[in-house]
Amino acid sequence: MYMESQTTHLRELLQEIAHLNAAIALLNWDQEVFMSPGSAQARANTLASLSARHHELVIATVLQNEVTRLEGLPDGALDARETALVREIAHDLRLAVKLPTEFVARITEATSRGQMVWQAARAANDFNQFAPVLEEIIALNREKAEYLGFTNSPYDALLDTFETGLTSSEVTKVFTPLKERLIPLLKQIAARTTAKRSDLEGNFSKESQLQLSRDVATAMGYSFDHGRLDLSTHPFSTSFHPTDARITTRVDEQDFWVCLGASMHETGHALYEQGLPAADFGSPLGEAASTGIHESQSRSWENIIGRSKPFWEHWYPELQRRYPEPFAHINLDQFLPALNEVRPSFIRVEADEVSYNLHIILRAELERDLIEGTLNVADLPKAWNAKFKEFFGLDVPSDALGVLQDVHWSCGYFGYFPTYALGNLYSAQLWAAVRRDIPTIDTSIAKADYAPFLGWMREHIHRYGRQYRPAELLTRATGESLNPEYFTAYLQERYGMSASTE
Ligand code: MG
Repeated sequence: MYMESQTTHLRELLQEIAHLNAAIALLNWDQEVFMSPGSAQARANTLASLSARHHELVIATVLQNEVTRLEGLPDGALDARETALVREIAHDLRLAVKLPTEFVARITEATSRGQMVWQAARAANDFNQFAPVLEEIIALNREKAEYLGFTNSPYDALLDTFETGLTSSEVTKVFTPLKERLIPLLKQIAARTTAKRSDLEGNFSKESQLQLSRDVATAMGYSFDHGRLDLSTHPFSTSFHPTDARITTRVDEQDFWVCLGASMHETGHALYEQGLPAADFGSPLGEAASTGIHESQSRSWENIIGRSKPFWEHWYPELQRRYPEPFAHINLDQFLPALNEVRPSFIRVEADEVSYNLHIILRAELERDLIEGTLNVADLPKAWNAKFKEFFGLDVPSDALGVLQDVHWSCGYFGYFPTYALGNLYSAQLWAAVRRDIPTIDTSIAKADYAPFLGWMREHIHRYGRQYRPAELLTRATGESLNPEYFTAYLQERYGMSASTE
């Protein structure tokens, strides 16, 4: 694929690391999909050992020297892609060398164990079971922030690992006005909502739902020759190579959208992975731009397309054919508002798209306070419930429906939640650009022809890998830097609150 060039040796070194990374990712996938609970400690130890080995390869002198040599080349010696490759790998290495190998092993072991403890605690609805390991994981994340370094807040150092350049103050700057718009907008829309998701309940077998997910994913452009769909507690996608990008989903036998919505979401992620340049496997040019850009892809498919009228013009007759009960008695104009019922509810992953970002802002505020040390783990459930009342007007009935619902903190992912809201904001801005560039996009979607949409994403997002930082990639794709107005305008248009987008 690549001619012998200045970066050939660097690419070879990075591929070795990428193969080990793929093996680690596969073990993580197995842990979520197949592994028995009794194997948890052994798997935690295996992952800790392999992660330490991975870290040693990343910080090895040979790699450092090669990057230093490339950074020292005269201007013009590298083309634009190679220049970006060296810039990104130098950035990664500068962070990686700050983390001691024994620390990487410690945090990997604690978070692998943490996930199993969280699963048991959630099932038992018992926060106290989870609290000690959560305290340990928070302490490890604060230690990590100290190693990585920061100017204002330790949370900055953690945010930067998911969205390069993102800071706590920028998160606040975007989220605070968004929260102030969304709290009243949610109340307003919910008050007018009469249709109910529960009107769409029925008896939908697990196998038939998985088949529907496979059919929709295939229509979206996902290749089952280069991935697979399985079940897990918490749906996710993972990728070992652009030719092996996997997804998981979950099934509720009464509510078909739990499975299909999750499947479309994870397929959106996997389409990004399958669309990355395979020739750049192992290098930053073959990796997604950021966690937030990744989420923009999943949310575009799940919400902007998957909850839209054009999408269902094709798929609703198909749904009626597969499930005459109850859909034979419900027409499309009744179905859509029921699918898109807007109502404050407890579980983030089941939230409507008006509520969703408020769930994220709640978590972002709490995790910032946990990392900055202004909130203790012992006080976390109370703080969660108080904010929930403030944002949604609801009393949280149990920790399983509250603070214990998400896997992220048990995995040590502090700084990850804000990227979910960014993904929503990016997706609305990208959608405005798609509609501008492809005026016939709704007609294509109504025919289940997603090639124009996927093609636009391939051209403007996927093929670049990490050639551009997230903010620049968004600007190049849409002609504008991040503008949250696109998201609120999109909500107002979809939920008929005003004609502000006309
Ligand atoms: Mg996602």
